[in-house]
Amino acid sequence: MTTTTDPRPPRSTRRPHRSPLLGVLALLLAGGAGLAYGLTDGPGPPAGVVVPPGAPTGATGLHPDLERRLAAAREAAAADGVTLTLTSGLRTAAEQQELVDEAVDEYGAPEAYRWVLPPERSAHVQGLAIDVGPTAGAYWLQEHGPDLGLCPTYVNEVWHFELLAEGAAACPEPRADSSWAW
Ligand SMILES: [Zn+2]
Repeated sequence: MTTTTDPRPPRSTRRPHRSPLLGVLALLLAGGAGLAYGLTDGPGPPAGVVVPPGAPTGATGLHPDLERRLAAAREAAAADGVTLTLTSGLRTAAEQQELVDEAVDEYGAPEAYRWVLPPERSAHVQGLAIDVGPTAGAYWLQEHGPDLGLCPTYVNEVWHFELLAEGAAACPEPRADSSWAW
């Protein structure tokens, strides 16, 4: 994967955001084919939630293993001179449903299903998924996450990682997008 280009959509294509969480999704959706490179480090989206390296577990509400691995990844990234922030972690079922409704409203089905899962299927609601930024951080984690127990899950969402399944020796092949799980 290249990290040298960052063809974010022009600001004029971005829509106003109703909430920080929805803003992130809206930005991602607004990017269309180029959104894999857009991520959340441009102007507009919310500031990432920064989990300090070595932060005590329980700070994010994520699964403790995921939280520990994220902290370890942030330390390793920092050692490489790369900033890695958590942009979205644990979500309530209601928050996830809001994302689904918003995505379907704005982009229609089935396109929206490529980017968001219902609460009962979302790893975010189970505390087993993280979205990271900025762009360079996401690409750093694409490269190093599998060695750290953080698996890239969807080819179209370079910012999204899930905890390596317990007992699994290696990350599974990423899916093209989330539509398979609907
Ligand atoms: Zn995600």
